[in-house]
Amino acid sequence: MKIQSNHASLLIKLSTLNFLLVFSASQDFDFFYFVQQWPGSYCDTKQSCCYPITGKPASNFGIHGLWPNRNNGSYPSDCDSSNPFDASNISDLRSEMQSEWPTLSCPSNDGLTFWSHEWDKHGTCSESVLDQHEYFATTLSLKNQINLLHALESAGIQPNGEKYSLSSIKSAIIGASGLTPWIQCNNDSFGNSQLYQIYLCVDSSASGFIECPVFPYGHCDSSIEFPSF
Ligand code: 5GP
Ligand code: 5GP
Repeated sequence: MKIQSNHASLLIKLSTLNFLLVFSASQDFDFFYFVQQWPGSYCDTKQSCCYPITGKPASNFGIHGLWPNRNNGSYPSDCDSSNPFDASNISDLRSEMQSEWPTLSCPSNDGLTFWSHEWDKHGTCSESVLDQHEYFATTLSLKNQINLLHALESAGIQPNGEKYSLSSIKSAIIGASGLTPWIQCNNDSFGNSQLYQIYLCVDSSASGFIECPVFPYGHCDSSIEFPSF
């Protein structure tokens, strides 16, 4: 009788421990923002930019990151310092990373610092869903699924320094993808509002695009520039 109750209490302790472990490893976010940047708008600011050591990136949107986010607008960051970025995990993705996820920060470099920052700050917060290789491979594959520049150009919106209405930019992306994007602007060195980043949303298992549950805050003028690069 005594032995049986000891067993029972051990079982309860073990299942509590198991629950706590599962709970602490479970995700603390509801969806991802998939963020792409227009290189021309990173480079023509007061701050300027540097091309990566591999050369000037293509005149196309580049990946900024895949960011776990909560439905209430907050987000976790820097979730696991015990699992830092390790370039050897993504050696097979290196050339695709260089073309699709180029860094524009100074001084000129190979991109590892940018990718490492994105993994450490954001990737570690979704490691229960995507390990390091999956995090980068999935993000690259998301970029391949929707061609933002093509969507814009097909609607006559070209990176030529002209101004376009914010609503025409959104409509072009909705028309091509069925998804409502969030547009983030910044200012060029003359202070003109311009198209800087485009946010799309991805479900919490990173299996596909969804409508954004919530949009970030920020302001664009109703008509914005789309600079060349
Ligand atoms: P900024 O203040 O320039 O918009 O953002 C600075 C950095 O904060 C971003 O590069 C990103 O790492 C993080 N960040 C900004 N807004 C969001 C957001 O809405 N969700 C998440 N997950 N990260 C964000
Ligand atoms: P976040 O804004 O994602 O927190 O941080 C971006 C960090 O990555 C900054 O420290 C920024 O200097 C660095 N970084 C390196 N290359 C790039 C780039 O091409 N675009 C952006 N937005 N940040 C970059």
